[in-house]
Amino acid sequence: MADCSELGTDGVAALPTRLDRYGRAHQRALHMSNYARDRGESKLAEKLHKCGHWLVFRHYYTVDKLRLHAADFCKKHLLCPLCAIRRGAKYLKAYMDKLAVVLGENPGLKAYMVTVTVVDGEDLGERFKHLRNAMQAMTAARRRHLSAPARNRHVEFAKALGGVHSIEAKRGKNSGLWHPHAHMIWLCHEEPDQAKLSQEWKDWTGDSFIVDVRPFHDQEDVVSGFMEVFKYALKFSELPLADNWDAFEQLGGKRLVDAFGLLRGVEVPDELTDEPLDDLPYIELFYQWMNRAGYSLMKTTNASTVKGETGSRTRSAAEGEHRTGEDFRAQPGP
Ligand SMILES: [Zn+2]
Repeated sequence: MADCSELGTDGVAALPTRLDRYGRAHQRALHMSNYARDRGESKLAEKLHKCGHWLVFRHYYTVDKLRLHAADFCKKHLLCPLCAIRRGAKYLKAYMDKLAVVLGENPGLKAYMVTVTVVDGEDLGERFKHLRNAMQAMTAARRRHLSAPARNRHVEFAKALGGVHSIEAKRGKNSGLWHPHAHMIWLCHEEPDQAKLSQEWKDWTGDSFIVDVRPFHDQEDVVSGFMEVFKYALKFSELPLADNWDAFEQLGGKRLVDAFGLLRGVEVPDELTDEPLDDLPYIELFYQWMNRAGYSLMKTTNASTVKGETGSRTRSAAEGEHRTGEDFRAQPGP
């Protein structure tokens, strides 16, 4: 479950890998469902249990594009890795589209990954607040400088014309304590100075000077950097169940992703399924979760002629309509 990008999963050849990833995610959600039930959270347990129980894919075979067309999602992305994967992919797509526009309008702008941390602690809620306060102080200092450069001291963050960040929480390797940190993307003309930023960060946190500044060298790096930011929710599923639950309770409903400057105002669709392709024939694949066997193909339906064409329906291996309540588009006439 290393990535949330869903990159390289476009064609049907990648379906087994994709089902394998979704299967592991679903399995974790089932464990979390049991955990929630044990805590008397039966509604939530039910949601997690149902999430991803069945999946409908559409294979647009003339262009070999596979799209997740329908599924039952719980949308509890801090507890459910399947929803975290799908949501991360949606964020990635929306921000990469925006980035392309921004870079087109601002030639020479470079992306940097900036990571900031605070000292580990026992109380996640308190540490999270501490991290966010420091980030807000940094944001305020940037704004002050940019609005009146002569009167307000320069801070490294002012080099960023825009960016986006996410906040993650894991356990510190040595301390075993909560270790919240933020991965930020900064878009700058001038490279941020790590030593200066470290000093400034110490002033804002009072306890940590740990920052990391990493330039992206090429486009591939930029994609993986954004991916790192948007897989924050997936990271929670790497925690033991009790910690994951704790983090969900402490951070659920908090703003864990935020953007500023040139990357402001990106609209991320709420829907976790893929965008359908217009006017292309497809075969629909209906998968269901079977405990031991994982995702199993239950039905294949050919619903596929280009809109407007009639009478050219081709047969698929198995026919018959599934009962998910989904409409077939482009159903050929008799
Ligand atoms: Zn889910």
